[in-house]
Formats: sequence, structure tokens, C-alpha cells
Amino acid sequence: MKLLVTGGAGFIGSNFVLYMLREHPEYQIINVDALTYAGNLENLKAIEGNPNHTFVKADIGDSAKMDELVAQGVNIIVNFAAESHVDRSILEPDVFVKTNVLGTQVLLDVAKKHNITKFVQVSTDEVYGTLGETGLFTEETPLTPNSPYSASKAGGDLLVRAYHETFGLPVNITRCSNNYGPFQFPEKLIPLIISRALADEALPVYGDGLNIRDWLYVEDHCSAIDLVIHEGKNGEVYNIGGNNERTNIHIVKTILEQLGKPESLIKYVEDRPGHDRRYGIDPTKTMNELRWKPKHNFESGIKATIQWYLDNKDWWTRIASGEYQAYYQQQYGSR
Ligand code: NAD
Repeated sequence: MKLLVTGGAGFIGSNFVLYMLREHPEYQIINVDALTYAGNLENLKAIEGNPNHTFVKADIGDSAKMDELVAQGVNIIVNFAAESHVDRSILEPDVFVKTNVLGTQVLLDVAKKHNITKFVQVSTDEVYGTLGETGLFTEETPLTPNSPYSASKAGGDLLVRAYHETFGLPVNITRCSNNYGPFQFPEKLIPLIISRALADEALPVYGDGLNIRDWLYVEDHCSAIDLVIHEGKNGEVYNIGGNNERTNIHIVKTILEQLGKPESLIKYVEDRPGHDRRYGIDPTKTMNELRWKPKHNFESGIKATIQWYLDNKDWWTRIASGEYQAYYQQQYGSR
């Protein structure tokens, strides 16, 4: 098996590359990543020198380069590469369309040209829009994205679907809830709160803090994608979620309690425009058809994650500087 994994220096992609080389040591992985602010080769230190892993710095929008890479006998493409942060998509939507829509289309064309046997598009539950107090997103829920990020992901997903319907490309789309775990960039809620609480800095919480997200430990996401690659029925969408709905304020208070830090650090800030109220995933199809089962519940996952950030302070202090500080000031104002 030869996989082209895109975005494999980012949070989920790097966890996935590490996971696959552990679970399938004989697989070969070409890992292509543009190394934007969110990509970090340090995430891949554990596999330095592994002959079955090749890293290539490139943009998925570079069709000649993608063609050259896939021509090297690749049979599976897993597309993680994306601009992934909703707040940034409100500041600069164009780069989201470029990577998440046009970049996906380049990969689809190359996949079609080289007759790959599986194209997995890693997408998000955010394409389904927002939920009221009840109900869950299923694979049949209409796409009603509300942010430039989710709209661009939905655009990519629809192209993936179209390449299956029109050209018979063997595709799957996975739609996952919020991930957390090692190597997540500190702009996202959980690492943001852990890193700032450890430094006794104010913890920005949007609106009333009662927005609900459905949390999934990253390794459980990786195991689901592994199953989709091997057993996913072509053309199908698979929802991946851990049945772990929590309000944002619950997350923040849980982290404070585990770190022994005071709730006085919490600072409510003006809500994000178009902020979806609630996401909840129904993963029944993935569990039944692919026999997938998450290993972590939220309580064990958050403990492991906090411990990872405590053990890897160097990793996040290095990246939580420079460009990131400028972005943070623009987003939340002064500390
Ligand atoms: P991330 O921002 O941590 O990583 C994205 C990676 O893609 C980075 O390494 C970046 O350098 C790379 N990249 C960006 N633009 C590129 C381009 N044009 N060409 C090549 N590489 C490029 O994101 P993540 O949280 O790891 O998310 C990975 C995927 O999973 C995304 O497609 C995202 O939409 C999806 N997803 C994420 C979550 C979540 O909770 N993080 C939930 C559901 C779905």
C-alpha cells in the first residue's frame, strides 16, 4: 500500500501518519504539507529516518507536483490538508476557498488520472450547520454551512461526491466532530485553554460559553479513517463522533479544575459572528457498518491531553509565539 497523506504535518494528519506507521509498519506514506502556520515537522520527530515515510513540502494546489507524487505508485489518497480555523476564515476567506475547494479539486483530478483505489476526504460536521437543543447530524442531514470555513469544506465535499457520481472515482467522505489530543495548535479551544491557564493568562470564552461541541480523541478519529480506507463502501459518507457533547464552559472549567487554577481566569468575550450553537454527531452508521468503536471517553481523553501538554511545554511555547501572538491580539485584543 502506498498512501499520499496531505496535511500530515498538522494536528490530525500527523497523528494519523504516526498511527498508520504503527498499525501498518509495511505501508509507505508520502506526506505532503505546505507547512503553513499550522504545519509543524516537530510533530513527526518520532518517525524521523523511517524509510517508509517521505515528507514533501508542497501545496496541494500545485497540480504538477501532485501529479508527480501520485505517479510514484500511490494507490490511496487521504486529504487532511486544509485551512482549518473558523476564526481565521472570518478574517481571510479567500485562502480557505483556495486550499479547501480548489486544492481538493486538484487532488481529485490527479486521483482520477492515476486510477487510485481510494480517495478519502477528511471533512467536518460543521458542513451540516447548527443544531437546536435536540437531534443529531446523520449522513443524510442537508449541508447548510454557516462560516467561510465550513462552506469551503462543503464545497470540497461536493466536488468529491461529484467525482464519484460523474467519473466513478472510488471515494469516501468522513465528517467528524471536534478533535482534541496531542499536537493541536494552541489557537483551538482545548490547547488554548491549557496553555493560557498554565501561564495564568486570561481565558477567552465566546458569548455565554454554552455552545456545545461533540468531542473526539484524535486517535479514535485515526482508527475510524483506517477502517474507512479498508472497508468503506465507495461513494459513502461516514460520520465519526464520540457521543461526548459538552458546553465550552464545561471544557474550560474541567481543565481549570485538573490544573488547579482559579475560575477567575475566565474572560467572556464578544461572540463569534455566525457562531453555531450546537453540533452533535450520530456515528451509528460508522459503528455498525465498519465496526468502529472509540477507545476514549471525554474524561480519559482530556486527562491524557492535559498530561501531554504538561510533558511537551517546549512544543507549544515555541509555536505560541511570533505570528500566532499577532493573530491572537487581532482576535481577542490584549491579554
Ligand atoms: P490543521 O490546521 O492542524 O492542519 C492542516 C494542515 O494542512 C497543516 O499542516 C497545513 O500546513 C496543511 N495545509 C494547509 N494548506 C495546505 C495546502 N494548500 N497544501 C498543503 N498543505 C496545506 O488542521 P487539523 O485540525 O489537523 O484538521 C485536518 C483536517 O481535518 C482538515 O481537513 C479539517 O477540516 C478536518 N477536521 C478537523 C477537525 C478538528 O477538530 N480539528 C474536526 C473535523 C474535521
